[in-house]
Amino acid sequence: MTITFFWIIAGELVFLCLTGFLFIFCITSLAEKEYRAFRRSGLIFIFLIAVNVLVYLSGEPVRTVVFAGMFFVFMIGILLFFLSPKPKSSISIRSEIKKIDQRDIIFARFELEKGTEKYNNYYKRFPERKAGDDKIRKRPDILTPDHIRKDPYLFNLAAAEFDFLEQQLTLVDGDKATKKTPVTAEDFTKYVKKVLKYLGAVDSGVCLLDQKYIYSHVGRGPEEYGSRIVNQHKYAVVFVIEKDFGMISCAPEAPVVVETAKCYLEIAHIGIVCAGLIRRLGYNARAHIAGSNYQAMVTPMAWKAGLGELGRVGILVHPRLGPRIRLGLITTDIPLVPTGPRVWGIQDFCERCRKCALNCPGRAIPENGKAVENGVEKWVIEREKCYYYWRKVGTDCSTCILTCPFSKPDNFFHGIIRWMALSSRWIQPLLVKGDDFFYGKHPIRKKSPL
Ligand code: SF4
Ligand code: SF4
Repeated sequence: MTITFFWIIAGELVFLCLTGFLFIFCITSLAEKEYRAFRRSGLIFIFLIAVNVLVYLSGEPVRTVVFAGMFFVFMIGILLFFLSPKPKSSISIRSEIKKIDQRDIIFARFELEKGTEKYNNYYKRFPERKAGDDKIRKRPDILTPDHIRKDPYLFNLAAAEFDFLEQQLTLVDGDKATKKTPVTAEDFTKYVKKVLKYLGAVDSGVCLLDQKYIYSHVGRGPEEYGSRIVNQHKYAVVFVIEKDFGMISCAPEAPVVVETAKCYLEIAHIGIVCAGLIRRLGYNARAHIAGSNYQAMVTPMAWKAGLGELGRVGILVHPRLGPRIRLGLITTDIPLVPTGPRVWGIQDFCERCRKCALNCPGRAIPENGKAVENGVEKWVIEREKCYYYWRKVGTDCSTCILTCPFSKPDNFFHGIIRWMALSSRWIQPLLVKGDDFFYGKHPIRKKSPL
């Protein structure tokens, strides 16, 4: 009798855990308007309750056998979870990394106007790029009248945001105070992280500024095209801005470009204010803001600062927000303490999940293995294919961001799933399948919040 009672309690606890988890999943899905996940988790929840009642009513010895069986299966599952090897893949540097010339990046190339001296000189140096780039040029650029007329309200809103951003470009640097305020590295690192959070960043980190990630020559922005970039700051402060999930859920339609522009504005605001604070304390600091003002590559520095890992998607995947972020950067010589890098397990997950690649309308994300590009082993994005698609739809697409399981809202339920995904390699394939089952293999787009 006592043993029977023990198994009933043990079995009921397992039921309680499973149904409780499914209930939270159900409610979360409803709140997020994820109706497929709501229906499926709801049906499984009801099914489990029905099984529980039937087992309870079925009497001895069925009840004891089922409850004991459930308890053992559950405990074995937990044991396997904790015994599973921890994710360990990370970014691998295979050979020397060479500085990138900003004039070669895709956005700088497409600012070159056909027939101008800059255009002719550039393609004289790189004739192999001309035919491919000119093919893309035949498509209307993002936020030009051909696209704007498709959705004048939203596209003009994005254009207005970019106009405002343009006015911030010259505010990124300035003179520092003549008298230095003494600071300690530990204190100021804590303080700057607090300030960034207060101003709106959701995460931040610090790394040593590695010269190989500074572009060699100016390719965009107010500084002289082709001039050498010199930045001798010792540290990079990188911060993260969250992209609104509702806006990204409309990918690849107009709301995504509105959201991107809004994040750029937030980055400009936070970066410029924070760099100004540091200069007022008597140290050099420069904000690097989007819309042609970066002197350095932010993604590798975000990785070095411990903010995430480069995913298959070709951009930084943050452990709580996935690729649904934008990164801001401040370089400075105020004393700071580096905060990274660390192995998150995101690259392990990407090896098992190919969702972004399978859903990329531009076929720009590799479905298979990594390759070495400029000394770094990674999934190499075909940037031209991606950008061609951007010009086709008139936005920065973002379908890959919407598709990524890590992009789900940062709440209790998804927090548990992400913790499991980054803690155990054995559970990762199950979570990949689970994401497809509950949310679908292809992203379900939502109505624009605007
Ligand atoms: S933005 Fe769109 S086209 Fe570019 S890689 Fe992502 S899904 Fe593909
Ligand atoms: S969709 Fe999957 S493969 Fe792509 S970045 Fe996200 S986790 Fe990695």
